[in-house]
This record gives sequence, structure tokens and C-alpha cells, in this order.
Amino acid sequence: MYPFVYQSLPLRVVFGEGASARLADEADLLTVRRALVLTTAGHERLGREMAERLGGRFAGLFAGAVMHTPVGVTEEAVRRAADAKADGVVAVGGGSTIGLGKAISLRTGLPQIAIPTTYAGSEMTPILGQTRDGVKTTQSASKILPKTVIYDVDLTLSLPVSIAAVSGMNAMAHSVEALYAKDRNPIISLMATEAIRALAGALPDIARAPDDRDARSRALYGAWLSGVCLGSVGMALHHKLCHVLGGTFNLPHAETHAIVLPHAMAYNSTAVPDVDRHLAEILGVSESSAGLYAFSRQLGIPAGLREIGMAESGIDRAADLAMADPYWNPRPLKRGAIQDLIARAWAGEPPAAEGQPRQR
Ligand code: NAD
Repeated sequence: MYPFVYQSLPLRVVFGEGASARLADEADLLTVRRALVLTTAGHERLGREMAERLGGRFAGLFAGAVMHTPVGVTEEAVRRAADAKADGVVAVGGGSTIGLGKAISLRTGLPQIAIPTTYAGSEMTPILGQTRDGVKTTQSASKILPKTVIYDVDLTLSLPVSIAAVSGMNAMAHSVEALYAKDRNPIISLMATEAIRALAGALPDIARAPDDRDARSRALYGAWLSGVCLGSVGMALHHKLCHVLGGTFNLPHAETHAIVLPHAMAYNSTAVPDVDRHLAEILGVSESSAGLYAFSRQLGIPAGLREIGMAESGIDRAADLAMADPYWNPRPLKRGAIQDLIARAWAGEPPAAEGQPRQR
């Protein structure tokens, strides 16, 4: 057994169908008496439902969360929290809404209850990415981590199959990189393995039968475990590439992760043959990166970055940025191979180990 350090995250998880019915009790446990509820503009109704669950503990609704947590929106929400004399926040929605809750907690110290409705995993991390004048910066602090996370399977039933698929692969990416993380440990590897297995089984079931509550439940369970992985160990090339691609070309977050993952795994597979084999076994395939690519094709996920708005002229720049200030990675980064990886991901080609000719 290799030496390791394991530290668990200090947060409470409540999971199940209808779990958000316990919101008032969970607020009481945190002694939150006046909660500001956060949503995006499109999910205000969900916010009203949470307001009903909070009863007399509801202090107001801020339905202004947007992608990439712009500082201007956060400042407006902080003012709203102060006006409402809020002593806690409840963020209900995807990673965009949870990001706003984290940004408010960072500035005010208010405790946050997160109720995620996608599989992004942000609720399990003490990390916050924010944008000011279009520039995204990331920071980590204990105040950012939600105090309580309620995973209510029912709230994910409305997630369209197309979003469930890409968001599920976004979650899977956290677990895949956790398996070869520099600071990996046996507990997180167990969680990552279980998460990939759960997501690999659940996502095709959701695509076949979107109302399958058991499949939705297994996907959310896999997303939770993947979120723990993301919040506990360091990520590598895949997350660096997605950070660069999303930030520089304003590409949609989950779609970018879903497209890049097979290619990042192909790049790393020779450096981590044990993980390559393990992942292939979980997916029931002979080769992990090809298996991930086939899985994404089966789910109808866009094959290439060009389909989600990236121009071919961006490939060179993306490769430069990926090489600058890189994250630790099990295989050293080579400029030519990284450029090739991005070019394949852009074109939607199958992943390939270095040296294999690209399809043209
Ligand atoms: P998102 O919150 O923008 O949601 C994606 C889409 O799903 C949106 O169109 C939203 O309206 C829709 N949606 C959400 N819940 C729904 C529901 N129940 N029914 C129907 N539609 C629903 O995006 P995301 O992919 O969840 O999160 C991405 C954001 O989170 C990015 O800004 C990313 O940087 C951040 N993030 C941060 C961390 C972290 O640790 N800091 C981790 C993961 C993601």
C-alpha cells in the first residue's frame, strides 16, 4: 500500500427522493432563521417551492444567478441578503447557482444549504471560480464549503436527457482524474470507482427512460461521490484543459468536460496503466479512452468542440494556455501532443495515443 493522507470534508449530506422536504429541519439545525433563497432566472418557481418548505424561515428570493459567478451579480445578491437581514442562504440549482451561494458565504460568512439539481459537483468543494471583467479566478477557503447539501432526486427529474448526459460525464471526469491524482488515497479511489460505476449504469437508463427515478437516483449518487472526489484530491490535465477551453472560448462547462474526457484519458493512459485497466473494467470495455468515447456517442453527446462553438483557429492558443502554468499530471505535457489532443477533441475524432495519425 502506498502512503497517503486522507481528510474528510466537514459537511452534512441528506440524500433521497423528496429530501428537500427536510429543508426547514436542516435550516433549524444550522440555526438559520431567515434564509435567502437563490436560483437562476429560469428556475424561480423552484425557489418559490423551497420558500414554502422554509415557511417562516424564508427571508427572500434572489433569482439572478448566472454562469461563471460574475462579481457584480454577487455584490447585488450580498446587498439583497443584507436588506433581507438573512442569516443563511439556500442555493437550489446547478453549479451556477451554487457558485453564487459560495460567493455570498465567502463575503459574509453566512452558512449555505446547497440543493444541487445537476451533477456538476460544486456543492462538495471549498473552491470558488468567479469572473470580473471577463477574467475568471479561482480560490479555495473553508467558508466557501456549504454546511449542508440536500440531494433531492425529485428535483433532478426535470433535467433534460441531453443535460443529464453531459453533466453526468462532467461528474465522471472528477472521478476519473481522482483515480490518478497525485494525492490519491484509497477512500477517494473507492468513491471514484463506485461513482463511475453508478454513472455508467444510470446515464444510459435515463436516456432510455427519463422518468426512471431509480436511474435518476443512481446518477445523483454518482454525482455526489464524484463531487467528493473533486473536493478532496487534486485534478490534472483534463480539468486544466476544460478550464482553459471554457474560460478562453466561453464554451459550455459540462459539454466541454464530456467531449474532452476520452482524449485526456488517452493522453494519460500509458502513464497510468493500472488506472487504464481499472477504468476499462468498470466500463466493461477493453480500452478506457475508446470506451469513454463510445459511451459519449451512445448518449448522443456532441462529439467535437466545434459543435459547441469553438473556432478551429483557437486550437493553437488553447495548447499554449494549457502548457502555461500547468496542473500536475501523471504524464509530462508535450506541446505537440497536447495540440494534437485538442485538435482531435475539436474535430470530434476518436481519442488516440500519441503518434497515431489524425483522421482528416
Ligand atoms: P448550470 O448551473 O448553468 O446548469 C446547467 C443547465 O442545467 C442550465 O441551463 C440550467 O438551467 C439547467 N438546469 C439545472 N437544473 C435543472 C433542473 N432541475 N431541471 C431543468 N434544467 C435544469 O451549470 P452546471 O453544469 O450545473 O455547473 C457549471 C458551473 O458550475 C460552472 O460555472 C462551473 O465553473 C461551476 N462548477 C464549479 C465547481 C467548483 O468546485 N467550484 C465544480 C463544478 C462546477
